[in-house]
Amino acid sequence: MTTRALLLVALAAVVAKPGMCQQHRWEAQAARTEAVNSTVALLRADLQAKSPATVRKLDASIMLDVSVSGGNVPRSRRTFSGRTIEIPDLFIATSINLARALRTARRAEDYTCIYQYKQHMDRTGSTVGPETYLERAGTQCAELKSRFPLGPVSERIAEQELISTIAFAYLHELGHQYHEHLPVQLPPDVSSKENQCSFLRGMAVRRQLEYEADQFAVDTLDALGRPELVLATSPLWIPAPPSAAPNLVALDQMLSERIAEHPFSAFRWARILDRTLVNLSKRSTPDPALRDIIEQLKDWEARAREMVAESDQSLSPC
Ligand SMILES: [Zn+2]
Repeated sequence: MTTRALLLVALAAVVAKPGMCQQHRWEAQAARTEAVNSTVALLRADLQAKSPATVRKLDASIMLDVSVSGGNVPRSRRTFSGRTIEIPDLFIATSINLARALRTARRAEDYTCIYQYKQHMDRTGSTVGPETYLERAGTQCAELKSRFPLGPVSERIAEQELISTIAFAYLHELGHQYHEHLPVQLPPDVSSKENQCSFLRGMAVRRQLEYEADQFAVDTLDALGRPELVLATSPLWIPAPPSAAPNLVALDQMLSERIAEHPFSAFRWARILDRTLVNLSKRSTPDPALRDIIEQLKDWEARAREMVAESDQSLSPC
């Protein structure tokens, strides 16, 4: 064996050392920025080729900002200098990390680990990949950890989910710009009954604007001939795991929609899927299993919404 071959064998042994934590390619910020830029560039070319003139003109006026500081949710703004859609690097890191982690989920406990991972990223701004996080996550996540590394097919699916998530997020923000949504003013405090009521009304308006932006995104994907892309945005909609008292937790989450800026994510997801099903049905008969799941979710959403409305009526000070 030549010296060079010996060195290669030694190198392979070092690389394959068990327990050694290698950085995954998505842990490099440059890879994430490249994913946003290329996805949005393709999407915008598609918008210019297939959208109505109003959407084409609007999109041509948008500046994309892939920010590395600030929050972890996409935003759009309109100022004197023009229109901007901001997609933070943290949003991309969280999306690809969750998409990759979801590829390994089999049991309810796995979703609990993944939800904790999401909370960890939201709280700390961490961008570490799931294999690095799970290394330190304790024994309850050991089985999930053992399913890494992902195979090439799973890596490709996760990447496709990232691309779909970026496209949906961009179009959601474009929807806010299309409808000329303005920031909803809220009272400075909620010490009086009047202010409490105006706060709740303001929050309800904000949530309505989110639904409108979601609908724009769903319908635009349909107009681009890619309605099914919505189905691959699951990293956006990971629900909190059920607790020892599942009814209480679910109820608590739904009722907290009253004071949330963004609607309870399961409500948004139910509406998005419902609209997507309508769009898919215009082209061909959707997969019966898919239709069934969406119908069940829609039914659940209607009942949950009724429960929230009843609770609102009994608790509201207005
Ligand atoms: Zn929004």
